[in-house]
Amino acid sequence: MKRVLITAGASGIGRAMGEAFDRDGWQVWICDVDAGAVASVPGHWRANVVDVTDETSVAALFAEIASEWGGMDALCANAGVAGPTAAVEEIALKDWQACVAVNLEGAFLAAKYAAPMLKAAGRGALVVTSSTAGQYGYPYRAPYAAAKWAVIGLTKTLAMELGPFGVRANVICPGSVEGPRMEGVLAREAAAKGMTRDEVYAGYASGTAMGSFVEARDIGEMAVFLASDAARFVSGQVIAVDGFTVNPDPKV
Ligand code: NAD
Repeated sequence: MKRVLITAGASGIGRAMGEAFDRDGWQVWICDVDAGAVASVPGHWRANVVDVTDETSVAALFAEIASEWGGMDALCANAGVAGPTAAVEEIALKDWQACVAVNLEGAFLAAKYAAPMLKAAGRGALVVTSSTAGQYGYPYRAPYAAAKWAVIGLTKTLAMELGPFGVRANVICPGSVEGPRMEGVLAREAAAKGMTRDEVYAGYASGTAMGSFVEARDIGEMAVFLASDAARFVSGQVIAVDGFTVNPDPKV
């Protein structure tokens, strides 16, 4: 059985990735900072409470995986937080740093400890979760967009470094995903702009050719494809799962 580690895998997109790998017959190991959510994952998954910005915890997780599994076939570096929603001049440095720490440094640390395992095996895949914000920018979300842009550079570099060892690295850029995280964004923006939640939703959706949000399951299925042998010569790529963003700033 192939083995995958998913960071921030206890809920949202990471949980849907775990479910997609599970359906495809993989062994699933997730980590997440939320102990309650970690306790809620299926009993046949492995699950650890880990903050991806804490190198000591990340190193301990990979040591446990090396000891229990003897390696892994794929890493999904998925952890991310939205960060502040504010004009750039109103963003405190500590809030910038906290956002970049999870989205960028978290991906770096996971890749840092996965790379030796995958290189030693001479095969495997890294799948990093960015965002359409990392392709186009995202007004009033500067640290998030900057970090999501940076993980694309990180992943392309990993694809160059690890390709000679048979290891691939790709990025998924989700568009707006149905679920609690986007509901929070919709509620905050509706309150700030004196609009209804449905008006804000329709505004966001109108920025895509398909006129819709996507579902976490769609991201999970793409992660499985990118980790699979069906994608054995797909590396260094940035794959949007977004219904095709035609207007990244629809002024909702
Ligand atoms: P979410 O807010 O639902 O969070 C998913 C999980 O991340 C939670 O279980 C949370 O506990 C965990 N987490 C947060 N900080 C962590 C840390 N420091 N260490 C370990 N775990 C941590 O988010 P989501 O919507 O599932 O997003 C997953 C990824 O997809 C993120 O990288 C996000 O930026 C990206 N993304 C999401 C959307 C969307 O619309 N939801 C769109 C584009 C990209």
